[in-house]
Amino acid sequence: MLRFLFLALLAYYLLRWLRDLLPKSTPRPRPGPQNPPGSMGRPPSSQPKIVDEMKPCPACGTFNPTRLAYEKKSLYFCDQRCHEAFIRGEIKT
Ligand SMILES: [Zn+2]
Repeated sequence: MLRFLFLALLAYYLLRWLRDLLPKSTPRPRPGPQNPPGSMGRPPSSQPKIVDEMKPCPACGTFNPTRLAYEKKSLYFCDQRCHEAFIRGEIKT
């Protein structure tokens, strides 16, 4: 039994030794969260910085990015419908 263990250990070290001797097997680049497609080779600093702010819609309370929101008198609505509803006073703030 001891002899078997010794042989197993020997085989284990032999395999390790062989693996070290062999030229490094190509480390397969696994697609994962570290390297999402589309962002390869592009440093984050090169991306245009979009200054955007989330503002709540006075009519329904949904937060909208100011860049996309329907702006009226420094109020940011989801769209024109929310704005009209707000003007009509349908929604009380
Ligand atoms: Zn709204």
